[in-house]
Amino acid sequence: MDSQAEYIERLRPAGGKRSGKRDLVVSVFLRQEGHLSADDLVDLMRKEDKRISRATVYRTLQWMVDAGIARKVDFGEGRFRFEHSYRHPRHFHLICKSCNRSSEFLSSDVEVLLAEIAEARGFSARRSVVQIYGTCDECQRGERASPRPAGATETVFARDALRIAIATERSGLEFYSRGAGLVRNARARKVFESLAAEEKEHLSTLETRYEQLRADDPDFEAYPTFLYFKGASDGLFAEGAERLRQVVDDREALMIGIRCERASHRFFKRYGERFEDSEGKRIFLEFADEEREHLQLLIREYRALVGQDRPRRGRASPVG
Ligand SMILES: [Zn+2]
Ligand SMILES: [Zn+2]
Repeated sequence: MDSQAEYIERLRPAGGKRSGKRDLVVSVFLRQEGHLSADDLVDLMRKEDKRISRATVYRTLQWMVDAGIARKVDFGEGRFRFEHSYRHPRHFHLICKSCNRSSEFLSSDVEVLLAEIAEARGFSARRSVVQIYGTCDECQRGERASPRPAGATETVFARDALRIAIATERSGLEFYSRGAGLVRNARARKVFESLAAEEKEHLSTLETRYEQLRADDPDFEAYPTFLYFKGASDGLFAEGAERLRQVVDDREALMIGIRCERASHRFFKRYGERFEDSEGKRIFLEFADEEREHLQLLIREYRALVGQDRPRRGRASPVG
């Protein structure tokens, strides 16, 4: 992973000249969490270096937006706020009208729904904004929780990505273990057994990573959920494992595995690619690769099984 300095360097426009002031504004901006107005940033800069002008801060903010380092958000206050996109996925906002603070969430379910609506209306969507206005839980309780440490956003994102991956592994383990007990063909059984063993191993790797997060920040489970992937939270294989109960045919069992692996591969790849550079992104993309390997193995086995059953019609394929 890039360090923050390397990241900024990489984004510098070709031929762009170095500017000490601009670099300072960028690094102060990237140290902040949340959503800053231009004036908030001017105030922060004044504490660092009195000589930095308001115009420099404004210009640098615009440069960061153009370079993809910052995103502009509008909470309906009559002015823009800015958040950084460094290691920070696109997301939606909850905005408290009492304390004016905002918090973030991301949901595949909301995104899928928005895409479906746009498509049904023949609308070419460029960007969707979802904002929930109201009163945050702290304002309702009249309590103020201690501020989250710097870097908590990254931790929360990694935590939630791991939770989803772990739920998927657990449901995959359940699926393959059950399948191994059901199929009659010896080769198909071996495939289910070896995939069950693999899921088990991956599961323990992911759980170790989860415990490492705890070691780095013992409070990490108290932070609010960031990723709401309802369809994936029970594990993408849970439905397949249910369906296995009614299966009488080995090929059908393999086919359910293929469908689950394909759905899982697509899910993790699709979201992993959308995320900005982060631990959460790596978790998703690594997982997508594993799922693709499982998918390919199952497809090979399915073809072999079909070939065994019907040697003359070996072209039947679950692919596509
Ligand atoms: Zn509030
Ligand atoms: Zn935000």
